[in-house]
Amino acid sequence: MKSTDYLSSVFSVFNKTFIASVIAISIVASANALAAEDTDSGWTTISMRVTAYCPCEKCCGEWADGVTANGHVIKPGDCFVAADRRFVFGTEMLIKGYNASKTVKVFDRGGAIKGNKLDVFFHTHQAALEWGVRYIDVKVKK
Ligand SMILES: [Zn+2]
Repeated sequence: MKSTDYLSSVFSVFNKTFIASVIAISIVASANALAAEDTDSGWTTISMRVTAYCPCEKCCGEWADGVTANGHVIKPGDCFVAADRRFVFGTEMLIKGYNASKTVKVFDRGGAIKGNKLDVFFHTHQAALEWGVRYIDVKVKK
């Protein structure tokens, strides 16, 4: 093999590797673009453990006063959730199966509601019991 042949074959291998990495980089770039699109929509999806409560003493103990942690006076027909402090009051969420799958807001906190846990509000204890415990991909507005 002449040295020029050797050089050109090395170059050819280099070239193939280079092309492969360019392709790999553009695949990563387009994946990032998709992720960015998701962020632009303003919603993120978080897997949450969703329990339910009502204003009764069983559910709220000493806090059973009909007023949520953000000072909202509970009215008939209200739908809202209790969430961790990292979700500021008023944060919109979409919880499949709750409030006819329309958005609800964070109005309340709960001693056991930390991290990726939510408590959806119902007006009766029976309705809260019927909800039970559900694991749901909740959409959260940023
Ligand atoms: Zn209750």
